[in-house]
Amino acid sequence: MPITDVFASNVFDEAKMKEYLAKDTFQEMEKTIREGKPLNPKIAEAVAHGMKEWALSKGATHFTHWFQPLTGVTAEKHDSFLNPSKDHSISLEFSGKELVKGEPDASSFPSGGLRATFEARGYTAWDPTSFVFIKNGVLCIPTAFYSYTGHALDKKTPLLRSMDAINTQALRILHLFGHDDVKTVRTTVGPEQEYFLIDLEDYKQRKDLLYTGRTLFGAPCPKGQELEDHYFGTIKTRVQSFMQELNSELWKLGVYAKTEHNEVAPAQFELAPVFSTTNIATDHNQLTMELIQRIAKRHGMVALLHEKPFEYINGSGKHNNWSLSTDTGMNLLEPGDTPYENAQFLLFLSAVIKAVDEHQDLLRLSVATAGNDHRLGANEAPPAIISMFLGDELTDVLKAIETDQPYGQKKQERMRVGIDILPKIKKDATDRNRTSPFAFTGNKFEFRMPGSNSSIAGCNIMLNTAVADVLEGFADTLEKADNFEDMLHTLIQTTIKEHKRIIFNGNGYDDSWIGEAESRGLLNLPTTPDALPYSIKPENIELFERQHVLNKEEVYSRYEITMEEYTKIVLIEARTMVGMARKDILPAVSKYTQSLADTLALKKQTGVSATYEKANLDEISSYLDKAYVALKDLEAKVKTLEETEDFEKAANYVRDAILPAMSTLRRPCDKLETLVSAEVWPFPTYGKLLFGII
Ligand code: ADP
Ligand code: MG
Repeated sequence: MPITDVFASNVFDEAKMKEYLAKDTFQEMEKTIREGKPLNPKIAEAVAHGMKEWALSKGATHFTHWFQPLTGVTAEKHDSFLNPSKDHSISLEFSGKELVKGEPDASSFPSGGLRATFEARGYTAWDPTSFVFIKNGVLCIPTAFYSYTGHALDKKTPLLRSMDAINTQALRILHLFGHDDVKTVRTTVGPEQEYFLIDLEDYKQRKDLLYTGRTLFGAPCPKGQELEDHYFGTIKTRVQSFMQELNSELWKLGVYAKTEHNEVAPAQFELAPVFSTTNIATDHNQLTMELIQRIAKRHGMVALLHEKPFEYINGSGKHNNWSLSTDTGMNLLEPGDTPYENAQFLLFLSAVIKAVDEHQDLLRLSVATAGNDHRLGANEAPPAIISMFLGDELTDVLKAIETDQPYGQKKQERMRVGIDILPKIKKDATDRNRTSPFAFTGNKFEFRMPGSNSSIAGCNIMLNTAVADVLEGFADTLEKADNFEDMLHTLIQTTIKEHKRIIFNGNGYDDSWIGEAESRGLLNLPTTPDALPYSIKPENIELFERQHVLNKEEVYSRYEITMEEYTKIVLIEARTMVGMARKDILPAVSKYTQSLADTLALKKQTGVSATYEKANLDEISSYLDKAYVALKDLEAKVKTLEETEDFEKAANYVRDAILPAMSTLRRPCDKLETLVSAEVWPFPTYGKLLFGII
C-alpha cells in the first residue's frame, strides 16, 4: 500500500472527523484543536459516537485512556465497548463521559505523597489536541492524569501548561512586532531516538539485561567502534525488515517516521521523525519507543533503549530539536532576510540564551537519571555542564552588538539591531560541533543531553518554562518602552553582556573545558543526586508557580519520586550483580579452577611440566578471591541501603557507596571472563551481543 494510504490510517484525525462527525460538531472540534482549548462538553456525546463508529469499522473492541504517569512510560487500562442489554443480547457503547473523563483505579502509580491511598482516585482527561488512535485493537485516548485535588500526577499536564505559558508570553512579544494576525505560538520538537538491537536468544541468557536493561558485567571484545564502520553503514537485512515494519506501524499511527540509520556503536541505530508540536511529539515518541520494542521481538531481536547498555562503546541519547512556531507558519528561531526579521530573531535568540544560562540547573536536572549518569561526561555525549554552541558567525554578530562595534563589511558604523542585516548564517556552519549540549543548528536548538530512555516531556517542560519566564520579562520591558527600537537594542545588548558566559563554541569533550566552565561560574552537576535537589530551590519553585506549570506540592512530589527512582534503579542493578556473581560467575569459575587443579596434580604426578595450568590457576584464583571480597562488600552495602529510610540519604549513599562497590566487583569478574575457557562463561559475551546479528 502506498504510504499516503497507510499514513494515519489508525488515527481519528481531522479527515476522519470530517467523515464521522456532523458539520457543526466537526467545526467546533476543529476550533478546539486549533486553539488548544478543552472540549466543549455539549459536543462530547456526538464526538464519542462518531469515534466509536470509526473504531468499530476498524475492528477495535476496547477503549482506553492512555496516559503518562511519573514512571516515564505510558499506562493504559482497557474497557470493552460491550454493554449487556435486557434481552441477553449486547450493545456496543461509548459515551461522551467516557471519552472526556476516566477514573482508573490507579493507586499504585508514584505520586510522591500527592495522593494518600485512602484518597487514591486519579482522574484522566482527554487532551483533544492529540488525536485519538487505535493500537492493537484498542481505541487510545491521549489523556492528562491528575488527582482528586487537581494536582498533576503525570508528565503531560505540566507540559501542556508550559506550552500555554510560552504561548502567552511569545504572543505579547509578537504583537509588539506588529504580528496581530498570530493567534498561537507553539513549541516544536523533533526527537532523534537512538537504540540498540541484540538477538533475543542472547538477551534471554543475561539477567542483567532482563532486569536492568543494561549489561553489568562484560569484558571488552576485540572490536568496538574504533573503525567507525557501523556509522551510516549498509543496514543488515534482518534489521532492515524490522525497520520497514516499524515505519509502517508508526505511519499508521500518524507518526512522521522519517530518517533511519546505523549509529556509531556496533548494533546501534537511530530513528528521527519530522518535528511536530511538543505534546504530539512527546506522545509520538512514547509510541515510537513502545513500537521499537514490540516490533523488534517479532524479528527475534530485543531493542535496548537504556542510555548505556554497554561499557566501552557509546550510549544512546535522544536529541531534542526545539523551536517556536506560529499558527501563521513563522519559525521564530529562523534568522530571516530583513533587518526587521533579524531583530525579532535576535530577541528570541537572546531569550533562549538568558533562559539557558539562568536555568542551567533545571535543564541539567531534567535529564538526570541513573542511566544517563553513565553517559553524560563520558566523552561520547555532552558533559554534565550546560553550555550553548552558536557557531562563529552568530557569536561574532552578538559580539558586535555587545561592544557597539561594526560587523563584517560595514567598517564605519556600529551594528544596530533592526537596522543592519545579519549575514546569512549557513546551516552546516552551525551543525559541526557535536560536543555541545545545546547547539543552535540554523533555525532551531538541539538539546543533546536527554537520554534515550526518558520521556521528552521532562526537558521540554523546563525549556518552555524557562524561556516563557524570560519572554515575560522582555515583554514587560518592551511594552513600557517609549522607543521600541532603542529598547530592543538595549535589551539584546544587556542580555548578551550578562549571559555570554554560557556560550561556548569549543570542544565540550576536552578536559580543560571543565576548569574553564568553573571559572565562568557555570554549574557542573555530574550525578543525579547532585542535580535533583536544585528543583526544590525556592527560586525554582517560584518560577514554576509564576508560570503556572507546577505548584509547590507538585514540585516536591516530583523531586521525591525522581530521587527514589534513582535509588530503586541502582538497587535493582546491585542486587542483580550480586545474584550473577554469586550464582553464575563465581561458581562457574571455581568449577573451572577445579579442572585446572586436577590437571595440574595429574601432570605433577606424571612428572610433566604444567606451567600453563599453574600460572593460570594462580591468576584466576587471585581474581576469584578479589571478586569474592568485592561481592561481600557489595552485599553489605546493599543491606545498608535497604535499611536507609530517608530518600535523600539513600540516593547519596547510592552515588557514594553502591556505585563504586559495583564497579569494584565488576573489574575482577570482567578479568575472569578473559581468563577462563569460553565454554564455562555463563552468559553471552560482548562480542556475541554486539556482533550477533548478521
Ligand atoms: P540532522 O540533525 O541529522 O542534521 P535535521 O537538522 O534535518 O537533521 O533534523 C533533525 C531533527 O530536527 C528532525 O527530527 C527534524 O524534524 C527536526 N527539526 C527540524 N526543524 C525543526 C524545527 N523548526 N523545530 C523542531 N524540530 C525541528
Ligand atoms: Mg541532529
